[in-house]
Formats: sequence, C-alpha cells, structure tokens
Amino acid sequence: MTYGGGWLDRAGGRRADPGWISERLADADSTVLALWRDRCLVDADGSPVRLTAADSGAVLPRADQTVFLGLDGTAAVFAVDLSARTEREAAALVGAASAVDVRTLVGRLGPADAAIQGYARGLLHWHRQQRHCGGCGAATVTTFGGHARTCAACDRLLFPRIEPAIIVLVEAPGSPDRCLLARHNGAPEGSYSTLAGFVEVGESLEDAVRREVAEEAGVVVGDVAYQGSQAWPFPAGLMVGFRATAESDRIEVDGEELLEARWFTRAELRERVAAGRPLGRVDSIDHHLLTSWLAEG
Ligand SMILES: [Zn+2]
Repeated sequence: MTYGGGWLDRAGGRRADPGWISERLADADSTVLALWRDRCLVDADGSPVRLTAADSGAVLPRADQTVFLGLDGTAAVFAVDLSARTEREAAALVGAASAVDVRTLVGRLGPADAAIQGYARGLLHWHRQQRHCGGCGAATVTTFGGHARTCAACDRLLFPRIEPAIIVLVEAPGSPDRCLLARHNGAPEGSYSTLAGFVEVGESLEDAVRREVAEEAGVVVGDVAYQGSQAWPFPAGLMVGFRATAESDRIEVDGEELLEARWFTRAELRERVAAGRPLGRVDSIDHHLLTSWLAEG
C-alpha cells in the first residue's frame, strides 16, 4: 500500500534521548528531508531534496522544526519544516527548484521515498497545528525527537494526532457478485468510488462501517471483515479498509454526501477500466479494495 511499508526503524526507545538525536544530526551518514507547507522541496528534475549532515548545518538553525523520522539501516533520516519562509526562500535555502505535493510524485518516487515523504509531511503538519496546549493554551515544546510535544505550563504530553476513517467495499447479497460504488458530492460525472467516512467518538471501526453505509447509501450491512489499512497523512488520516455484505440490494442515497450509488458487477468494472476509467486513485486503498475484489472472479 502506498505511503506505508515500515521502511524506517523509528527507534522508539532511543529517540527520547536528546544527546542521541544530536549525535545523529551531526553524523555524516544522516540525511535531512526538507518540506515547506506540506510540500516536499524538489530539485529541477523533480526529485525530493535530501541534505547531508554537512549541507544541513546552515539549514537546521533556520528551520521552524526538525524531527527525527528513523533509521535507514544505521543512517538517521530527519525532516525539517521551512514553512515560515516564502516558497522561494525555502527553496533557495536547500538548493531546491520548487515545492510539490508528494501525491503528484507517485509513480516516479519509489515506495520507500513516497512513504517517508508522507510520514514527514504528516508529522511536520501536526507540529504546526500543536504549537499551543489544548488544555491551558500555553506554548508547547518538541520532545522525543519530534514525536511528542509538552506544555511548558501544565506539563501535558501531546502526541501526534491521527484521524481514523473507514473505507469499505460493500457486496450485494446473492448473485451475481456485485459491489456498491457511489458518486460523491463534488466528484465528476461518471466517477465512482467505495464508501468512506471518519470514525466518531465512542464507535468501533465496525460500528463506523455500518453507520456510514446506512447513512450515506441507505444500505444495511451484516458481516464486516477487515481487509487492511493505509497511512494517509494528508493531513492526518489512517484509512482502515473493510469488506462488508449488504442484507438487501436496496439503495437510498442521502443526496448530500452521495449523489448516486449503484451495484456494479465485475464485468462492468472491467469495461470501465478498459474504457480508460481508473478504479480510484492509484495510490489509494480504494483502488486496492477494488482491484482485489476484481481479481477474485
Ligand atoms: Zn498546558
């Protein structure tokens, strides 16, 4: 799954030690990714900039935030946020040509680079949103190598926020095999995807699947089975994928989140693919759920 894969050893037991982090920052094998306002800074060829320890000496004091991402073998990987500057200033500081969304680089970046850029983006985004304590409003400071912040006034420990969402491929009961796809509000005509929604407070993931499908498509589902998950740090998502079986094939869309929903057979989906209509974004779990279902029959 794009943006996942556990490519780095996050060194959870060592990153709390500021001395170890300082040593890693000074290590000649360490590298530093540079981001600007959720975008990765890229060179003229469109490749993300990776500074060496020697190059980063002038950059780190000018960065808003430096975080330790993990170890690639024995080499540490860090990321810096240059969001307080203009794009031109940030690019000049690290010798980049421009700043681009990592999702526009999918296909040209290897899976490890895509995942690490997404991880850096999500973590740095959280730091920008958590500069103050939600409890007392005082300023917070970075700790644990950038994996937590503490409130200077009330000592509250704040961890990066992740927002779980479910995404589900619903199958119709009986035959032929059919799956439920919907056109979401704002999606172009003829563009269909699986159903998804955020998990609410006090809900299990399975509860969220049943509620979202019932609310949006008027479909009651019975069995719900976990399929896999995907980091979606745009800005803070975790997509949790399911397969569910509907109790009837009746559909009643809400007309707000969904404009239209219908059952598709595998043959219909294959016709769409053959006609040049992709099954969701190629980097999405939506695409993965649909292609796995297609491969089963
Ligand atoms: Zn506080």
